Amino acid sequence: MKNLNLLLFTLLFSSMVMAQQYDVAILNGRVMDPETMYDNIANVGVKDGRIAIITKDNITGKETIDATGLVVAPGFIDGHQHCIETYAYRLMVRDGRTTIMDLEVGASGPNVDAFYKDREGKSPVNFGISVAHEFARATVLDGFTEWKHYNTPDGFVSRAQAQGWSKTRPTLEQGNQILANIDEGLRQGALGIGSTVGYMREGVSSREIFELQKLGGKYGRYIAMHFRNTPGNDVQEVSGIQEMLANAAALGSPAIACHFNNPGYNMVHELLVRMREKGNNVWGEVYPYNAGSTTLNAMFLEPEIWVDALGYKYEETLKDVETGEFYTVESRKEMLKKEPTRPIIVYKMPEEAIVDWLKMKGVAIGSDGMPIIPDDGLEWDTPYEDFPNTHPRFAGSFAKVLRLARENNIPLMQAVSMTSYNYAKPLGEMGLKSMQVRGRMQEGMVADITMFDPETVTDHATYAKGTLPSTGIPHVIVNGIIVMRDSEPLKRFDAGQPIRFEVQGKGKFEPLTIEGWTQKFYAVPEDFSGTSGLDCCDFGQEGHEH
Ligand SMILES: [Zn+2]
Repeated sequence: MKNLNLLLFTLLFSSMVMAQQYDVAILNGRVMDPETMYDNIANVGVKDGRIAIITKDNITGKETIDATGLVVAPGFIDGHQHCIETYAYRLMVRDGRTTIMDLEVGASGPNVDAFYKDREGKSPVNFGISVAHEFARATVLDGFTEWKHYNTPDGFVSRAQAQGWSKTRPTLEQGNQILANIDEGLRQGALGIGSTVGYMREGVSSREIFELQKLGGKYGRYIAMHFRNTPGNDVQEVSGIQEMLANAAALGSPAIACHFNNPGYNMVHELLVRMREKGNNVWGEVYPYNAGSTTLNAMFLEPEIWVDALGYKYEETLKDVETGEFYTVESRKEMLKKEPTRPIIVYKMPEEAIVDWLKMKGVAIGSDGMPIIPDDGLEWDTPYEDFPNTHPRFAGSFAKVLRLARENNIPLMQAVSMTSYNYAKPLGEMGLKSMQVRGRMQEGMVADITMFDPETVTDHATYAKGTLPSTGIPHVIVNGIIVMRDSEPLKRFDAGQPIRFEVQGKGKFEPLTIEGWTQKFYAVPEDFSGTSGLDCCDFGQEGHEH
């Protein structure tokens, strides 16, 4: 009798243990891993923030998600989201995004640490940032030091109030200050350097870009670039990326071609593929829309560039986000006086091209979502319909990729790869540990998981209403924590983690002593010893010898 009791107790106890084998059990989903190409119906057990098991066997968990009919994919990684703010998070998870990073613009160097601290324990998604070339220039050339938010309307104040950052060739001393500002950001753990040189054009010398990439290369980190001539035609766009890639090849430093969904994209893609084949860690990203978004006073929209040089008409390409009306030369001039940083939509590619972009191997998705202007009073739970309008890529980019893949017979694994792995892999190759364990559905990886219905997943955001949430993505897990269940985002601000390099102590920045820094055409520094320098030392990683 006693033994029977013990037996019953043992059975009961072990079944209780079984019931809590995993924190979350995801059952009967189609598990897809873009790295191993695993594509199978299986159960996934999540424990302590990691994918503990992927198995055909029955498993149980404290929480159970029935994923029948759903794809169980690596959480979507958006490497190009300019709005990493509380009010954005619900829309991000509705679109399946588990990591959002602003790699193109970034934060001011001394503010990188504050960017991360401000978001710790306050975000359901992972977050990361570059150090900003633009803000380093605004600090040195315009005297800006206050950055309330890293890149919200307050951050963009430099674009409205001053143009030194855009148009000025720095002296050697100022150039060193710019580089020192960026160096500080890298020491504070920024993922790489963001450069919006396309908003500066010839205000920035080739030498300055080269030195930026050299500095990034010292840390093994990328430059993410809005190319010098973007937007442009199929010659200017390509030459803009060739500048970056030539430097990357010469210096052995990583590089990201930001939103190359522009004229000449197939050429850009071939350059990236061939350079990767030769061992260079360079990659590119696109957003699935044929119109871009920027502010009305963007330098490349000046009539001399946009109309005269590129041959566009304002009436066909420049649309006001709020009114939905196209600008004319006159109405643009009037609005510039009233509201220079007014958000606009810029048409630049035919609609058919989008599907073509989604077929490109190795390319990642970066939404280029912009901060909402104005964002006063926007909170975590502000209803989506109360948001002011913005470009639809803010809310719909990732679901749109999946919808277009379905409608155009693009293999689902290609779409899953673009939305996650293609950003994680090259960032991981830079030595970024947090990205070596994301973007993959494998045992031992971090449990950032997005579950979507391949038959129904779709975007809803349009140019008329850019903040409508995507649907068909019912469940999202970040670091093992369920942050969305049955399409209802949960306020799990404990889930998101920083995507960041380790902080390094204050270092001594080595100033450059290059003659000809400000010259329009690069003069060979006297101390440059030509090809013999390449023979004798690792020129690329050490910078100039003096
Ligand atoms: Zn850009």
